[in-house]
Amino acid sequence: MNASLPDAAATPVPPQAPLRLLIAAPRGFCAGVDRAIEIVERALERYGAPVYVRHEIVHNRFVVDGLKAKGAVFVEELDQVPDGAPVVFSAHGVPKLVPQTATERGLDWLDATCPLVSKVHRQAERQVEAGRHILFIGHKGHPEVIGTMGQVPEGAISLVETVADVHALDFTDATPLAFLTQTTLSVDDTAEIVAALRARFPTIAGPKAEDICYATSNRQAAVKAIAEECQLLLVIGAPNSSNSLRLVEVAERLGTPSRLIQRASEIEPTWLDGVTTLGLTAGASAPEVLVREVVQRIGEIRTVAEETITTAEEKMVFKLPRQLVD
Ligand code: SF4
Repeated sequence: MNASLPDAAATPVPPQAPLRLLIAAPRGFCAGVDRAIEIVERALERYGAPVYVRHEIVHNRFVVDGLKAKGAVFVEELDQVPDGAPVVFSAHGVPKLVPQTATERGLDWLDATCPLVSKVHRQAERQVEAGRHILFIGHKGHPEVIGTMGQVPEGAISLVETVADVHALDFTDATPLAFLTQTTLSVDDTAEIVAALRARFPTIAGPKAEDICYATSNRQAAVKAIAEECQLLLVIGAPNSSNSLRLVEVAERLGTPSRLIQRASEIEPTWLDGVTTLGLTAGASAPEVLVREVVQRIGEIRTVAEETITTAEEKMVFKLPRQLVD
C-alpha cells in the first residue's frame, strides 16, 4: 500500500471567487420610452380598451405584451384600425402621411413620437424649405428612418448608411446639401460618416452636434466604461432595437464578447465559464424589471458581487400630448 497517495475526499476544493457583476448606468428606459408607454396607458384609461397602436410602441416584447394585456391592440398599418377607434403612433415616429390619413378618416389619434425624433422631423422640413437635399444617416428599414424620410417629398432625401455610401454619392459640392441622423446610431460610426460627408462636401449644412439622442450616447459611454474590464457583456434588448444592437457593437469593438438577450431564461450557465467579471446593460426600451430578472438568474448560477458603474445622471422628462393632460 502506498501511504503517500492523497485522499481525494480530503482534498479541499478551492472556493470559486464571486463573479464580479458590473452593471452599467445609465441603462434601460429613456424619457421617450417612458412617455410613449404612459401615452398608451393613459389612452386606455381615457378611451377604454381597445386602443390601437401602430407598430410596437417601443421595441420590447415584455412591454408590448404588458400593454396588450391591458387592452392595447398592435397593428402595422392604419388600415387595420377600425373607424372610430383611438390610435397611438409609436415612439419611432411616422411618415407625415400617417397622421394626415388618420385625420381624414376622423380617427382620434395620439402621437407618441419621441420629441427628439420630432425635432429631427422639423429639421428635415426646414432643410428642404431652404432648398437643400438631405443626406440622412440611418439604418434602412428602421421605423424611425421610414418616419423621418416620410416628412419630406420623395426625392428630397437620400439614405446614407456607411462611409462607402458617402463615396458613392452622385452629388457635387455645387448641390446645396444638408445631413441629419437617426437618433439611435453608433456615436463612433456616425462621427466617421459625418467626417466623410464634410470632407467630400465642405459646404454641407448640418446640426451642431449629430442628432444621436442623449440616451443613446449615454448608454454607449456607460458600456465603454466597463467593457474592457469584462470577459462578457450582456445587453438586454430586442433584436429590432437599434440602440440595443449598438451597445453590443460598442463592447465588441473594445474586444469584449457581447450577447443580446431578451429575457433571463436565455442565459446558459456555460456562458459564465471562465468569466470573472461580467458586464450588464439594457437598451432604452428594456425595463429595469428585466435587469433584476437577469441579476437573479446569474445569482442562481454563480455567487455574485454586484457593482453599479455610473457614468452620467439622467433627469430628462418629456411632456405628454395636450389631449392627455387636462
Ligand atoms: Fe427618444 Fe432617444 Fe429614447 Fe429614442 S432612444 S425614444 S430618441 S430618448
